[in-house]
Amino acid sequence: MCRRRIGVLAVQGAFAEHASRLRRLGCEAVELRRADDVAHPLDGVVLPGGESTTQSRLLRETGMLGPLRALIAAGLPTLGTCAGLILLAARVEGAGDLRGLDAAAAAGRAAVEGLRTLDVTVSRNAYGRQLGSFHAEGTWEGGASPDDHGGAGTATDGRAASAVPVPVPLTFIRAPRIERLGPGARPLVTLGGQVVAVQQDAQLAAAFHPELDGDDRLYRRFLELMR
Ligand code: GLN
Repeated sequence: MCRRRIGVLAVQGAFAEHASRLRRLGCEAVELRRADDVAHPLDGVVLPGGESTTQSRLLRETGMLGPLRALIAAGLPTLGTCAGLILLAARVEGAGDLRGLDAAAAAGRAAVEGLRTLDVTVSRNAYGRQLGSFHAEGTWEGGASPDDHGGAGTATDGRAASAVPVPVPLTFIRAPRIERLGPGARPLVTLGGQVVAVQQDAQLAAAFHPELDGDDRLYRRFLELMR
């Protein structure tokens, strides 16, 4: 049972899927839409996938950017996925595919002014348009968790999850690539040697969409940060 109050950024993108997963795990999920919503106490925050340029613009316009940045920098447990990873990244390379856009639209798409609290460099839409969406199986690098019993990440015979590595299902949708990790960030999930999820203190971020697959390990790691 979770009994935590978790804010899910709900200005754009895949927030409903995260909220329903958190509720299934027994948490209270509250949608964050305006500055007032981040003024109430939260145990954690989720930044969903979607379009990072739109999300960063709406974060600024709603007045949530500054307060959220302060909360995350002060150690509020945070889970960012896909566009949410881009919002957290200290450095963002590449504007994505700007073909067919006029100058004003291209400039808007190029600009992501995010939270910049996570010491990684990401490049947007790095997996290209043709291969924009795909499924793969990754490796959990985060070690065992005290809560690793039951669920997709654990062997059915009761052995520890670390004894029998269960692949992490990964769904990528026009995903950013994690190009470089600063000294504070460590790999949490890899795919063929490429880091696809990281942890830096109480910040977790993934290039993929854990809300679309049945594996709860990333969510459980997130909830453990709230103890
Ligand atoms: N391509 C999007 C961006 O650059 C991210 C895609 C996603 O969140 N599924 O913001």
